[in-house]
Amino acid sequence: MDLPSENTQKLPHVVVVGAGFGGLRAARALAKAPVHVTIVDKNNYHLFQPFLYLVATAGLSATDIAHPVRKILQGQQNASFTLAEVQEVDFENKRLHTPNGEVPYDYLVLAVGGTTNYFGNQSVAQNGFGLKDLDEATAIRNHILKMFELANQETDPEVRRAMLTFVIVGGGPTGVECAGAISELNRLVLTKDYRHLDFNDVRVILLEAADRLLAHLPAGLSENTAAVLQQKHVEVQFGATVQGYDGKQVTFQDGKTLPACTLIWAAGVNANPLVSTLGADLGRQRRVKVLPTLQLPNHPEVFVIGDAAYLEDGQGHPLPMVAPVAMQQAETAAGNIRRILRGEALNSFVYKDPGSLATIGRNQAVASISGIQFKGFLAWAVWLVVHIMQLIGFRNRLVVLINWAWDYIFYDRFNRLITPE
Ligand SMILES: Cc1cc2nc3c(=O)[nH]c(=O)nc-3n(C[C@H](O)[C@H](O)[C@H](O)COP(=O)(O)OP(=O)(O)OC[C@H]3O[C@@H](n4cnc5c(N)ncnc54)[C@H](O)[C@@H]3O)c2cc1C
Repeated sequence: MDLPSENTQKLPHVVVVGAGFGGLRAARALAKAPVHVTIVDKNNYHLFQPFLYLVATAGLSATDIAHPVRKILQGQQNASFTLAEVQEVDFENKRLHTPNGEVPYDYLVLAVGGTTNYFGNQSVAQNGFGLKDLDEATAIRNHILKMFELANQETDPEVRRAMLTFVIVGGGPTGVECAGAISELNRLVLTKDYRHLDFNDVRVILLEAADRLLAHLPAGLSENTAAVLQQKHVEVQFGATVQGYDGKQVTFQDGKTLPACTLIWAAGVNANPLVSTLGADLGRQRRVKVLPTLQLPNHPEVFVIGDAAYLEDGQGHPLPMVAPVAMQQAETAAGNIRRILRGEALNSFVYKDPGSLATIGRNQAVASISGIQFKGFLAWAVWLVVHIMQLIGFRNRLVVLINWAWDYIFYDRFNRLITPE
């Protein structure tokens, strides 16, 4: 474990748990503060989750969307990294319990993110795929490609059709992106690989329990999204509530069934279960309720930010679980730690919504920014630029751009490898 050096030992020790969007930003915002910062994460990399669906659909490789935390911290003199999974927060002794030992803190920033919410549906959790980390994205890619290989050898047409039916549950941004990308992988790339397969058997089905996609966007953009997906050969089914999945067949609440060997669950997110152990009140999606200053009630030295934290906006709506919330809260939490050290009053968090963007696939996206709605190629170009800029590391940006340009020009996906898991 990297502990503060003798020179920095006298400085207050700020421990940031999580090197995601919120945690990294908080550590960086403390670069010039008179503190020592330790980032603790169970992985040694920062993951750019918005591009997970591209790893899952062979557009990018895992290394393109992850960046080593130690590399990111190289230029920050007052920061170090500890690889460990935090299991418990001991508020009384101001220590974190991890399997590798204890980590003492003076101030704590919990930025542990979220986890897939299967709504207690064990059969879906066991037999379907979530899309929250690199392992899951790689497993989806391997599985899709394996299904094509097996279907190519299958003589029973019913079984073959089930192998070539890809079901995505959840009409939010992840479900929409995933459905569009899988359909494009099938129609633009794999048709060239599997010349003897009948692509009329290949189905991509997006299931949404409500009556529209991308419910956080204006209705017109939701309708456009459904229309574009249908043009891209995605079947969109509304009012479809999944009751169970055994790996071969989806069962719906109304008793109907759908044979399918692939189900990707993009229908819900909860806060990381660590925050349920803090003994504090929980809000929707099991996020921990924080004060407007982002402090944990009764623990002024502990801040919770990002997907793990529950806070409402001025209209009483919960803040969304998106990267801009996590990054803006990181700035506020870091600022408030500096204010505590200076003996000043703390600031309340106010979210500045930068707008929403969602891509539906090649040349197609929808956007709502500052009340202006746009769609199609322009929205797609904006989506591309915004996301490339957010990616950490020049190498990653360059590799992603080159990959993209190649795929765009040649209708190709270079990462269609079935790798050992
Ligand atoms: C597939 C997908 C696509 C998305 N697309 C978008 C998008 O396009 N735009 C957008 O704004 N948002 C998007 N999001 C949401 C966005 O990624 C999250 O809102 C954001 O990552 C939240 O930041 P965070 O810092 O709270 O948590 P995270 O970024 O999730 O970071 C949490 C970190 O904590 C670490 N950690 C967790 N538990 C422990 C533990 N016990 N001990 C130590 N370390 C731990 C994890 O390893 C991780 O590094 C997407 C999410 C997913 C899953």
